[in-house]
Amino acid sequence: MTRINDHYQKLQAGYLFPEIGRRVAAFQQDNPDAAVIKLGIGDVTLPLVPAIIEALHAAVDEMGSQAYGYGPENGYPFLKEAIAQHDYAARGVEIALDEIFVSDGSKQDSGNVQEIFDVGNTLCVTDPSYPVYVDTNVMAGRTGDADETGRFQGITYLPATEDNAFTPGPPNERVDLAYLCSPNNPTGAVATKENLAQWVAWARSNDAVILFDAAYDAFIQDPELPRSIFEIEGATECAIEMRSFSKRAGFTGTRCAYMTVPKAVMGRSASGEAVSLNALWSRRHSTKFNEVPYVIQKAAAAVFSPDGAAQTAEQVAYYMENARRIRGGLGDAGFAVFGGEHAPYIWMRTPGGASSWDFFDQLLERSHVVGTPGSGFGPAGEGYFRISAFNSHENVDEAIERIRKGFGS
Ligand SMILES: *Cc1c(COP(=O)(O)O)cnc(C)c1O
Repeated sequence: MTRINDHYQKLQAGYLFPEIGRRVAAFQQDNPDAAVIKLGIGDVTLPLVPAIIEALHAAVDEMGSQAYGYGPENGYPFLKEAIAQHDYAARGVEIALDEIFVSDGSKQDSGNVQEIFDVGNTLCVTDPSYPVYVDTNVMAGRTGDADETGRFQGITYLPATEDNAFTPGPPNERVDLAYLCSPNNPTGAVATKENLAQWVAWARSNDAVILFDAAYDAFIQDPELPRSIFEIEGATECAIEMRSFSKRAGFTGTRCAYMTVPKAVMGRSASGEAVSLNALWSRRHSTKFNEVPYVIQKAAAAVFSPDGAAQTAEQVAYYMENARRIRGGLGDAGFAVFGGEHAPYIWMRTPGGASSWDFFDQLLERSHVVGTPGSGFGPAGEGYFRISAFNSHENVDEAIERIRKGFGS
């Protein structure tokens, strides 16, 4: 028989969201009248804004008047120009168009990017973290087996704790690749300029590469906080950045994102010569990907139009109002809550020292509310719980009220 990729066998069984789905389905079967409120999965709940819908309609009509075949490799200039101007130049960062690679998602990008690096590279992740970073490296064979705590051999885990404001600094040892995500999923924490400057200094002195996931940059409320790692001096020599239209503009089902690979970021070949990662990624992207549809890139460009920017900002504000209510409501009820100020996630300590999954069950039983167990994002998430702000104000208010009642305050 044909051999499989055995590294897949190392992956932890029972992926987080299927297990949540299974428990919720079982509960609903036993309690058919319970109206369960889901504050679990991080997915948008508001429809696409009018400016984006108009752009989609117009682009569809254009498709009927001339052939739009394969688009330019790495994305249409109209979209890359808007990105370079609004996401970078407006914040004092100079990024060239051939450093931007339009894609169909940051999940894909954050999973695919490891392909251009040697399988022998070491890596670090903050713990807890977005599961894609670890799992894709396990699949590639860059790790050993997981130990009984769920930590894979060959990965350096940097615990994100209350003591370090859930924004750990760089490791003491040298590693080749560092995954960072700010604003963070799942902790809702945001990195300061000082924190990112530490990372950039570390990467430069260790010849390491930072893979920076900024999927939630639009949720940052304080203009002083960095939205891009390239706002940190020297980062264009050591970092790759991923940004997505998914959360900022409701594109989770529409699919558009981009990865920025500055030409100055270098890796080393077996013979010791410096090689531009931009050239490698360009090769990878053009070999394995045939670009995001024209209509979708037009829709993404509309996010930067004056109307599109204003309307999507309103949506972000709507979710952030939910975050404010959850953080305030649960805080008043005596829970220890974190995040939620620059991110659509609230990270809470489970009451009474309950395990993440025990609290999941209690919350479902007593309050009919679904959240996400922190332990599903990494061993250091044990004893914590993620509440998402992606829902309606009404459901959020109702959920807070039920949690207060269910947990005796
Ligand atoms: C939602 C999310 C993404 C976005 O993924 P897309 O594939 O662009 O929808 C990326 N990183 C993190 C941490 C996320 O939570």
